[in-house]
Amino acid sequence: MLVGMMNDPNRELLSEIEFAGEHSFEFFELTIEYPGAMPDSILQNRKKISDILSSYNLPVLGHMAWYFSIAHPYPSIQKAIIGEINSAIDAAVPLKIKQLTLHPEFLSSITKDRSLLISRSIATLNEVSDSAKSQKCELLFENFNDTALSEDEFARILDGTKLNCTFDIGHANMNGRNGSGIYSFLSRFSKKIRHVHAHDNFGKEDSHLPIGAGQIDWAKAIPALKSYYNGTITLEVHSKDRSLLLHSKEKLQAMWHGKKQVDADKDYLQPEMKKQQ
Ligand SMILES: [Zn+2]
Repeated sequence: MLVGMMNDPNRELLSEIEFAGEHSFEFFELTIEYPGAMPDSILQNRKKISDILSSYNLPVLGHMAWYFSIAHPYPSIQKAIIGEINSAIDAAVPLKIKQLTLHPEFLSSITKDRSLLISRSIATLNEVSDSAKSQKCELLFENFNDTALSEDEFARILDGTKLNCTFDIGHANMNGRNGSGIYSFLSRFSKKIRHVHAHDNFGKEDSHLPIGAGQIDWAKAIPALKSYYNGTITLEVHSKDRSLLLHSKEKLQAMWHGKKQVDADKDYLQPEMKKQQ
């Protein structure tokens, strides 16, 4: 399992990558998003971005703006958004991004006809996935809550697009009672999971809290995930105070590998720091 962080698009991208490298994150998830990480500026700064990523030996994954519609009721708006998604793919490919995550339609409640919502989503995803695939980049479809898509609807979109998925633990926690959405998603879609997002909440709002600050029973969720998965996990902790992101990283690594192993790794990687503590 590898732990990564995502850039806050309101912060300067190069210093975000530097922060990830300096704090021993094992990969970087680049959200290509307004204002700090627009496709044009990524293309312009491509060499600097690649250099700093490789100086820290950081592999990179991609993420699309969460508010990009994939089933917008106005065709001309959808067409413009597809253009933006393609620009983001074109900015991602030169950085050797091989996987890019997209969200479900966030205005889903506007389209009362759920079959139409599904068919529009499938059409958009197939269109952008074809252009990504032709550049050797795989699109991953991320779960949100039941209002956006039920599990059945999510399954229909995966079937209709042949896409794999990004499993967002915090989003799944907003479905069902007492985190049951996490376990039903895992038992149904485990074979399709190619990437994971982790953050905490109280089951109602998508709060993106540090690990342990919400209601998720991590001592139960992590072993459940581990029984199916051993890949990349991005900590999507949106707290301004970055020490809470670092604390979340330690917690996740300790739950996954055991505290003894994490301490031994720290001793190996940062012997000086350990001595000073
Ligand atoms: Zn997410």
